[in-house]
Order: sequence, then structure tokens, then C-alpha cells
Amino acid sequence: MRLLFTANEVRGLYKLGGLGDVARDLPESLLLQNHDIRLAAPLHPEIKLSRADCLVSSFNITYDNQSLPVKVWLKYIDGSRLPIYLFEEDLYLSQYTDASDNHADKYAVLSLCIAAWVAQHSTFWQPHLIHLNDWHTALIPLILKHLFNYSPPSLLTIHNLAYQGSTTTPVFQKLGISPETCPTLNLKTPPNFDNFMLQGIVHADFLTTVSPTYAKEIQTTEFGEGLEEYLKSRHQSLQGIINGLSSVDYIPQSDPHLVQSFSIDTVEAGKNANKSALQKSLGLPVKNIPLIGYIGRVDGHQKGIDLIIGALKSGNLPPPNTQFVFLGTGDPQLEAKLHASAKDSIIITRFDEPLAHQIYAGADCLLIPSSFEPCGLIQLIAMRYGTLPIAKKTGGLADTIKHNQTGVLFEDHTLEAFMSALMQGLALLSNPQRRLELQKNMMSQDFSWEPSAILYSNIYQNMYTGLN
Ligand code: ADP
Repeated sequence: MRLLFTANEVRGLYKLGGLGDVARDLPESLLLQNHDIRLAAPLHPEIKLSRADCLVSSFNITYDNQSLPVKVWLKYIDGSRLPIYLFEEDLYLSQYTDASDNHADKYAVLSLCIAAWVAQHSTFWQPHLIHLNDWHTALIPLILKHLFNYSPPSLLTIHNLAYQGSTTTPVFQKLGISPETCPTLNLKTPPNFDNFMLQGIVHADFLTTVSPTYAKEIQTTEFGEGLEEYLKSRHQSLQGIINGLSSVDYIPQSDPHLVQSFSIDTVEAGKNANKSALQKSLGLPVKNIPLIGYIGRVDGHQKGIDLIIGALKSGNLPPPNTQFVFLGTGDPQLEAKLHASAKDSIIITRFDEPLAHQIYAGADCLLIPSSFEPCGLIQLIAMRYGTLPIAKKTGGLADTIKHNQTGVLFEDHTLEAFMSALMQGLALLSNPQRRLELQKNMMSQDFSWEPSAILYSNIYQNMYTGLN
């Protein structure tokens, strides 16, 4: 089938978090299922075009009564045969963004550009189905229907319901769509906001999210972020499909960022060598003691940073005779709090891909105290590197970690439960035989994309043939 996969980020060009990984690895896996899949993404100012990239379309869109020129570039990432269409527009799409959902104009314009291209300008290639990802491109079905009178089948994947594009910017007025012609525009979220994700949930033909547990959770008040009633009403068209991991990146046997590559057979020596190198590069004493890590976004809502700060402040982290390294960036105030709370820990607040790989390889365990986690890739990568996840039993963490076999899970969002799980993990790792057994268990888990790509493929086929 011809599939258009729309996403705000894609690893290798521009990445803020897990969506960038999924938007690269799922399409790569679908290519192997013989789909003609192509990506559509914004030409963010951080992405540089090269001579090899070719201009495939140019046209104008109208937004806020202005005519805006749009160019569409075809780019391939080195070593990949996945076609990526990058949408260039100077006024809105060239704006810098962050991981928040505060950029309503940019993503209304992105959705309009993609919709206009699909409906009128991609004469050389027409998708059978459009796969939307998160709020950034969730308006595409609505725009296609109301501005272009065109409704190809559409699937919306919710990667994180906490980010909805809830806004006071009058985007629908700027798009030229009124509630008279599109009554769902009267649906608002409190206090009286327009909401990109909500419009996607209402207009897409099918919905998926990134783990079976999160698919159930988002239909409850606790996790539904105010959209639970809309999601409940669509439960027959909602499926949870777990994310996989790249089969070319995050491979400890061939990871170029490590001082020593390793496999399941050489895990002990490999992790020891990587731990020593990491301790040295971080300025920590080079010692054979447990090294605890954290990798992830610094946000006040999801990642359990409150628990980490609490543990640092109370002197519980790092526990005696262990070391702790934190790598994460995001909310500047929380970053400052982390720095202020840490006494004997290493806190690094920047995005650093090589260092992340070195922590996955060199740490003994990784803390993932998220209050909710749609899927989570951190725990999958950690397990691939034989690093024990100590994680909250929620969403994809609950679906992918086997308690006491491939990680330690805790249920309550309290410092006591978190610390008790960490101490349990350290106790398991302190027995060399048990430790090796756990490492081998973790490294033999299959987190390849193939089974999930097959599930997506079945949904596409059913939608296309009208079964869903
Ligand atoms: P989310 O998408 O909610 O941020 P995920 O667990 O799905 O969380 O994915 C996070 C991805 O981003 C992983 O690939 C992780 O290694 C990477 N990552 C997060 N923070 C950093 C950082 N500061 N430096 C390097 N990589 C990071």
C-alpha cells in the first residue's frame, strides 16, 4: 500500500524524544513489509538541506488571510531508503520549537501544507492512507475534509496524550474553517480551548496508541487528560500496539559510542569496561560499585523528576557505596532544582546522544519513575544493554518489563516505593550469578519492530478494504 506517515520529528534529522525514534524505525520496518511508505515532516530550522535533496513541489497555501509559499523537498537519510518529504515555509515552519505543545500556528500550518499537498499537488504519488502522529499533524483529516472535500482513510497514533495542542490561538479561523460547516469545532477543552488532539480523535478513522496498557489507561479519568470520554466513545476503533526498537541503532555489539562492544556472551566484561570508561569520563572514582543512571526529558508532569529530586534532597540517592548519573534536559527550573539537590551525583542537563549510549552500556540499573508512560523506549534500550530498569508499573513499562526477571516494578508514586524498588534492584544485582542471569534475560528479549509493524499493516489493510 502507499502510506504517508506524518510526524514532527525523525531520528537522523531532528529529534526531541521517542516520537523521533518511532517515526524512523516503524516506517523502516513497514518498508520491509513491502509498503510504499513515505514520511512527511517540517523542514525545521535545525535541519540542513544538501545538494542531494531535490525539490519536488512548490505551491501556495492561505493561512490567516496570507498567501504563503511552500516548498516540498525529498530527502534520504544516509544509509536509508525511506523517502522523507520536508515541508518548507518561511513564516511559521521555520520557527524554533521545543517539546511543549505551545506552537499552534506552526502545526496548523504544517497540517495545512501536508493536506494541500496530498489533495492537490502530489500528482506523482497519492497515498492510499495517511498515518498521523500526535497533535502536530492531527488536524489533517479535518482540513482535508473541510477545505479540500477529500477524505482518504486516516489513522492517528497517540504517542503522548499529555501534549494535545490545546490553544487560544484562533487556528480554525485562520485556516478558514467555521463551526457552521464543521460542528466538531464547537468541542473545546477547559477552560474554552481549541484542541488539535481532540479534533484528530474525532476525525481520524482509526486510533492507536503505543502500548496495550496505555490504550486502557487513556480511557480513565486518571490518565485521559480530559479526553477520556471521547476516547471511550471510540473504543472499538482504538488499539494499543507496543513500540519496538531499531535493528540498526542501539545494538551493544556494534555501538560506535562504546569503548568496548559486547553481546549476551560477553556482557560481564563488556559492561565492566564501559562502566570504568564512563566513570572516568564523568570524573567519578573508577570503582567496581553499582552505577545508577537516569536518561530522559526533564518535565514536571510525566517523568517522575519530583521523586528523583526528593531522593537526592533526602540523601537517599545515591545509596551508600553507589554512584548516580543523571542525563536529561527540559524545564529550566527543574534542571536548576536537580543541580541544587545533588550532593554526590553527576547531573548533566543537555541532550547528548553519545553519552546516553555510554550510560545505557556502563550503568547497572536505570531509574524510570514516570507517573505515566505511553510506551517508553528507555527501558527497552536499557534491557538491550543488560541494564536493569527500576520503573513505575504503568503504560508500556508495565507491558515490557517482567518484575524480578527483566527489571523491578513499583506501583505507588511515593519516595518510599521508589527507594524500596531501587534497593530491591541493587540487592538482585549484588549476587554475581543472579546478576548475570538477569542480564542474559534482559538481553534475550525480542524488542524488534517486526511484530508491531505486522499489526499496523493489518490495520492499514482492514481500513483500506473497509473492514475497520
Ligand atoms: P519520551 O518520548 O517521552 O521523551 P521515550 O522513552 O519514548 O521518552 O524516548 C526517549 C528517547 O530520547 C530515547 O531514545 C532516549 O535515549 C532519548 N533521550 C532522552 N533524553 C536524552 C538526552 N538528554 N540525551 C540523549 N538522549 C536522550
